[in-house]
Amino acid sequence: MQQDTPSSKQFQSAKGELLLQHCPECGTMQYPPREVCKTCLQHELEWKAVSPQGSLLSWTVLHTSLEPAFQKHLPCCIAEIKLDCGAQLIVQLAIEKPLALMPVIVEIGEGPQGTVLYVASKK
Ligand SMILES: [Zn+2]
Repeated sequence: MQQDTPSSKQFQSAKGELLLQHCPECGTMQYPPREVCKTCLQHELEWKAVSPQGSLLSWTVLHTSLEPAFQKHLPCCIAEIKLDCGAQLIVQLAIEKPLALMPVIVEIGEGPQGTVLYVASKK
């Protein structure tokens, strides 16, 4: 039987649902996945599908990368967004003229070498 590891959950995310870890003890939604809740250190965490809607917090343009798989995709814009559920994600930004706090929606795709890629665009 396959275990529910963070990478298997991210693979499920790639199938269309945005899944994040949820702490049933204190209600924290967190990303990236961790062994324990970042707020109360609870070990028993659940996975929940969350809304892909949020707002743009900050962004920057990458011109270099030490990771060979990313070098052919440069330059690219990455951003930090806050989902409506409260969790914050680092995503690739597909918006030409971003504005702080603008509403965004996250789509899930496949990045270099089969990795899960989160892409934010205008809502
Ligand atoms: Zn907690």
